[in-house]
Amino acid sequence: MSEKILEVKNLKQYFGTSKNPIKAVDGISFDIYEGETLGLVGESGCGKSTTGRSIIRLYDITEGEVRFKGKNVHGTKSRKEMKQFNREMQMIFQDPYASLNPRMTAGEAISEGFEIHGLYKSKAERKEVVDSLLEAVGLNSEHANRYAHEFSGGQRQRIGIARALSLNPSFIIADEPISALDVSIQAQVVNLLKKLQYERNLTYLFIAHDLSMVKYISDRIAVMYMGKIVELGRADEIYNHPIHPYTKSLLSAVPLPDPLSERKRKRIIYVHEEADDSATLQEVYPNHFVYGTSEQIDRWKV
Ligand code: ADP
Repeated sequence: MSEKILEVKNLKQYFGTSKNPIKAVDGISFDIYEGETLGLVGESGCGKSTTGRSIIRLYDITEGEVRFKGKNVHGTKSRKEMKQFNREMQMIFQDPYASLNPRMTAGEAISEGFEIHGLYKSKAERKEVVDSLLEAVGLNSEHANRYAHEFSGGQRQRIGIARALSLNPSFIIADEPISALDVSIQAQVVNLLKKLQYERNLTYLFIAHDLSMVKYISDRIAVMYMGKIVELGRADEIYNHPIHPYTKSLLSAVPLPDPLSERKRKRIIYVHEEADDSATLQEVYPNHFVYGTSEQIDRWKV
């Protein structure tokens, strides 16, 4: 197995007041290995975005630790170290229209990071890099002078991806990058992300609210529910041998390609069971973790 690029240890991110905290992320731990894609899945409001935003330092975390390439992300940092983090970790957002400035051309949006980091001083050099990024995401140099409203949703997401790649990052958090796109376009964007991962040795945290597309991109999947990771394992293991009832419920919502199986598919409704303080994320099978008490897990396994 390759090196750990990211280590998240007992991460907590609370909002609200200390009397009335909103426990958006409530003590989660996981690692991401270099070159892999970890899918982070769960229904809306379970804390996925907050996890991504905490990792990339958009928030001061409440508790816990995030290490990127061995270094504490939230520790006091020199300006130089901060800049380095900012280059290496990038984010792709759900709504590419909202994340692009309507008054900027695609070329300006893509090169904004260069300006901030003082890279590529000459105009010609900048243009060359922008053109190669546009090409890398399946667009071309003619697109550089157009504005966000002149693009389709899928093309805008491609520009969002080119922008994220502009500083040559090693780790990308993709926060529901395909949720706002037509189903026919979703697969294209997933394929593009896979191709870029292979070409540039990227590591992804891929956030999604359902399991349907996540299967095609993830090596491992973490299932999140109410601020906690309830199941974590290899993607095929999560699909074929889910243990936590919440994972089973999420899987039962995925339409099946075979019409016969699809007709027989039954939705499983998850009924939340309170767990006592002994509940933990336990390794039930090698590299397959489930959150619960021992009694619950024994019951769910059968
Ligand atoms: P997801 O990405 O899974 O939809 P979020 O991480 O956006 O979930 O939100 C998790 C919980 O935290 C929700 O209850 C949400 O309302 C709350 N939350 C998220 N961001 C904030 C914030 N900045 N202030 C207060 N509450 C927040």
